[in-house]
Amino acid sequence: MLEIKNLHAEVDGNKILRGINLTINAGEIHAIMGPNGSGKSTLSYVLAGKDDYEITEGEVLFFGENVLEMDPEERAAVGLFLAMQYPIEIPGVANMTFLKTALNAQRQTRGEPEMKTPDFMKRVKELSAKLNVSQEMLRRPLNVGFSGGEKKRNEILQMALLEPKFCVLDETDSGLDIDALRIVSEGVNALRSEERSMLIITHYQRLLDYIVPDMVHVMSQGKIVKTGGKDLALELEEKGYAEYTSGAAA
Ligand code: ADP
Ligand code: MG
Ligand code: MG
Repeated sequence: MLEIKNLHAEVDGNKILRGINLTINAGEIHAIMGPNGSGKSTLSYVLAGKDDYEITEGEVLFFGENVLEMDPEERAAVGLFLAMQYPIEIPGVANMTFLKTALNAQRQTRGEPEMKTPDFMKRVKELSAKLNVSQEMLRRPLNVGFSGGEKKRNEILQMALLEPKFCVLDETDSGLDIDALRIVSEGVNALRSEERSMLIITHYQRLLDYIVPDMVHVMSQGKIVKTGGKDLALELEEKGYAEYTSGAAA
């Protein structure tokens, strides 16, 4: 489904990604772990097509198509979804309006008809109940004054609504208490399917007790320095990242 080949990226002339190779098949969940500053969020921004990142080498293929040539709207239309470490706040736009606009923009880019308001309301109601997103949160401006947990639950609501084929979740667990972590994880697990793949970026092993990955990769200094099964996360929790940071610096 997704193939990242020798990806190098810079920000303001600083080399951040230094040759990432990663293949994710349909239905697989991969986790990327690693110390702060290793380039995890940079990888998610590059996949999302955020400005400011210069790709100096390599490619990213999604079902064989070059993602790096698509603008962010096209990426959403082909089924890529990125949940940001720091979700953006949009003061003038009600959450509900934002969700409807995002969904219909995706449908329009795909050449599909707009989803009418009654159908949309029904769908949002079902999904928001599962994710513990209140009616009040749907009426408020997007993410403005939302707690960390509310922002993350709302991101998973967006994801459930857009039904992407490939999801990147960047530190979805950061700032969540144990109840919010459970709700978010259940929401993510409900979206697991043989046709949908995910890349879960996290600093901590805890999230991976709830969302059990097929593969775990360690990123350090812009490279994947180790790959293993789900037990690698437990090993990292115990030993920390020290052996990988010193290894990558050498
Ligand atoms: P992680 O998500 O693994 O904590 P990031 O991808 O956020 O790491 O950051 C990787 C590195 O890139 C860090 O050293 C960070 O300081 C650097 N970096 C990120 N954005 C910029 C920027 N706009 N200008 C310069 N350096 C940046
Ligand atoms: Mg960080
Ligand atoms: Mg980060």
